[in-house]
Amino acid sequence: MKFQPAASHFIDGAYVEDTNGAPIDVIYPATGEVIARLHSATPEIVNKALISAKSAQAEWAALSGTERGRVLRRAADIMRERNRELSILETHDTGKPLQETLVADATSGADALEYFGGLAASLTGEHIPLGGGDFVYTIREALGVCVGIGAWNYPTQIACWKGAPALACGNTMVFKPSEATPLSALQVAEILIEAGAPKGVYNVIQGYGDVGASLVTDPRVAKVSLTGSVPTGRKVYAAAADGVKHVTMELGGKSPMIVFEDADIENAVSGAILGNFYSSGQVCSNGTRVFVQKCIKEAFLNRLSERLATAKIGDPLDEEVNFGPLVSENQMNIALGYIEKGKAEGARLVYGGNRIEGDGFFMQPTVFADVTDDMTIAREEIFGPVMSVLDFDTEEEVLTRANNTEFGLAAGVFTNDLTRAHRIVAGFEAGTCYINTYNLAPVEAPFGGSKMSGVGRENSKLAINHFSEMKSVYVSMNDVEAPY
Ligand code: NAD
Repeated sequence: MKFQPAASHFIDGAYVEDTNGAPIDVIYPATGEVIARLHSATPEIVNKALISAKSAQAEWAALSGTERGRVLRRAADIMRERNRELSILETHDTGKPLQETLVADATSGADALEYFGGLAASLTGEHIPLGGGDFVYTIREALGVCVGIGAWNYPTQIACWKGAPALACGNTMVFKPSEATPLSALQVAEILIEAGAPKGVYNVIQGYGDVGASLVTDPRVAKVSLTGSVPTGRKVYAAAADGVKHVTMELGGKSPMIVFEDADIENAVSGAILGNFYSSGQVCSNGTRVFVQKCIKEAFLNRLSERLATAKIGDPLDEEVNFGPLVSENQMNIALGYIEKGKAEGARLVYGGNRIEGDGFFMQPTVFADVTDDMTIAREEIFGPVMSVLDFDTEEEVLTRANNTEFGLAAGVFTNDLTRAHRIVAGFEAGTCYINTYNLAPVEAPFGGSKMSGVGRENSKLAINHFSEMKSVYVSMNDVEAPY
C-alpha cells in the first residue's frame, strides 16, 4: 500500500481508526492498483469528530482574527513548500496528470488559505447611527460547527475552499472527502495542526453518502457546504432544511460556451480544450455545449482536431503528459455510455470516442459535432471528456438556447465585439461567466452557480457571508417610551 495513511480519520489533532467501518479501497486510476485501504466512519467516529469540533469552536472563535489568519497563512506556506509531494499524492488519488496537480491543486488550496487568512483580521461588523443618538452595531459571529462534503475531482482544493473561509470566521469543520479520493484532505488536516491550529478545529472523516447524510442531520452542525452532483445536492439541501441550517451548494453543470464568427479562433479552440478536457473533463464548470457560429464551424472543428491530436495521453506521473485517466472505472463507463447515446441519437463523431485499452481508466478526448439541443449529450452532465459542438446563426437564437437548461453554473463567450460580449454575459443565466477565456477560478472571484447548479458562492469576500452571521445590537441612549 504505497499511500497508506496512519489511519482513516483525523480527529482532534490525531489519526484515528475504527476497522468496523465499511472498507474503502483507494485505487490509482492509471493502473487500477489499490494504493490504500481505509474505513468508512462508524457512528462512533462521526460522534467523536463532532464532539471535537464542537468543543474546539468557542476557543478558536475567541482568538483574534489576526491569530486565526496567521495559522491559515502558515498552512498556506507549508502547502506550497510541499507542493510536489502533495501533487504526487493528488495524482495517485485522482489520476490527474502531475502537470496539472503541480499547478492547480495544492497551489489553489494554498491560495484559499492565504486569501482567507489575510481577510480574517478584517472581519468586522459595523456601526449604524440612528436619530436621536441611538445606534446599532453589528457583530460578525461564527456559525459554529460546519460540515464540508467534497467531490472527487479537486480533493485538496475543495478541502481548502471550504475549510479556509470557515476557519477564518471562527468556525470549526468536519470535512468528509469523496470516498473515491479520501487521501489528500488528511494532509490538509495534518498541515493545519503543524501550522498551529488547535486540535479539533479541522477534522477529516471518511465515508460514503450515508456518513455525509448523518453529518448533515446532526443537530450540532450549523452549516453544510457540499460540492457534488445535483441529485446529491437536492438530498443534502432538503436534509439541512429540516434543521434550518445554513448551506452552500456547489453542484453540477452543462455550461454553454459561445464562439462567434469574429472570435480569435485559436483562443476559442484553447478555451474549448481547457473547458472540456482539463482533468479529463471532470470539472463542474466545463463548457460542454460549445455553440459555434455556422460560418466558422468547419474551421473550428478542423483546428480543434489538429490540436487534440497533439495531446499527450498516458502515465500521469510523466510531466509531459497532459491528459490522464478518469477517476474510476465507473466514471469512465458512464462517459463511454454517453458516447454511445450521442452516436445513437445522430450526433457526428469528429474526434476520439473510444476507451484506451489497458488496466487504467483511460479514454480518448471526444468531440461530437452537429449536436442538437434535444440530444442526451447536450442536456445531461457527463463529467468526462466529451464535448458537444452545436451550430447557431444569430445572437438572439444562441442566447436563448444557451440558457435553455436547468443548470446555471458557468457560461462563456468568445467574440471580439466588445458590446456583444457584455450583452451576452448580461443575458447568461449562470453564476460564473467568462469573456474570451474559460474555467479560470481565482480565489479573489466569487465562484458558484445559479438555477439547479447551486446556492451561495465560494471564494472571494462573499464566502465570508456564507460562514458567518450578523448579530444586530440596538443601543438606546434615551429613555424608553411605553404607551402605558
Ligand atoms: P456526488 O454527488 O456523487 O458526491 C459528492 C459527495 O457527496 C461525496 O462525498 C458523497 O459521498 C457525498 N454524498 C452522497 N450522497 C450523500 C447524501 N445523501 N448526504 C450527504 N452526502 C452525500 O458527486 P461526485 O460524483 O463526487 O462529484 C461529481 C459531481 O460534483 C458533478 O456533478 C460535478 O459537477 C459536481 N462538482 C461541482 C463543483 C462546483 O463547485 N460546483 C465542483 C466539483 C464537482
